[in-house]
Amino acid sequence: MREKGLLIVLSGPSGVGKGTVRKEIFSQPNAAFEYSISMTTRLPREGEVDGIDYFFKSREEFEILIEQDKLLEYAEFVGNYYGTPVDYVRETLNSGKDVFLEIEVQGARQVREKFPEGLFIFLAPPSLSELESRIVNRGTETEELIRQRMLAAKAEIELMDLYDYVVENDHVEHACRRINAIVIAEHCRRERV
Ligand code: 5GP
Repeated sequence: MREKGLLIVLSGPSGVGKGTVRKEIFSQPNAAFEYSISMTTRLPREGEVDGIDYFFKSREEFEILIEQDKLLEYAEFVGNYYGTPVDYVRETLNSGKDVFLEIEVQGARQVREKFPEGLFIFLAPPSLSELESRIVNRGTETEELIRQRMLAAKAEIELMDLYDYVVENDHVEHACRRINAIVIAEHCRRERV
């Protein structure tokens, strides 16, 4: 019998499709994990809803959360803060449910230090040129932001070895299937007596 939930961390470069993969995983009726909605100081993109996609905060509000130690991890990414609310994660894990984080790599590193027993999955692009065309095609970023995101992506890909698993995002459904299989296998591995 499982006592505490598993902390599943999906990370990888911005633009690799973490958000799409995560949404696909959670669109399945039998999705077995709880998604931890992040805090960010980034402005909402068209169609994004506060409390569903992110909790949108001012810089001031975010810095208060940092001071009050309310974040499991946080990072500044391309000029904005992003962070994971710690109380939600701990309470959900303690209730026996798995928690799923979709975060960039600096944050994943901090979570690794606090939860070394977490399951860390790196979502990798088929290639850097494929990653760049995905960011460009998304059409939400200026040229300068695309340049900054590509620089961040190159540094992030070098940290791939810190993860338990690397999943190539060649196709969203394939990536989701692999992630679900990894989680099931991890539970079997950890729960054997
Ligand atoms: P975007 O602005 O495209 O929504 O997100 C930018 C990057 O921030 C993505 O790589 C996304 O996964 C990451 N991110 C989202 N939420 C968090 C979080 O709570 N913590 C950290 N460290 N990164 C996050």
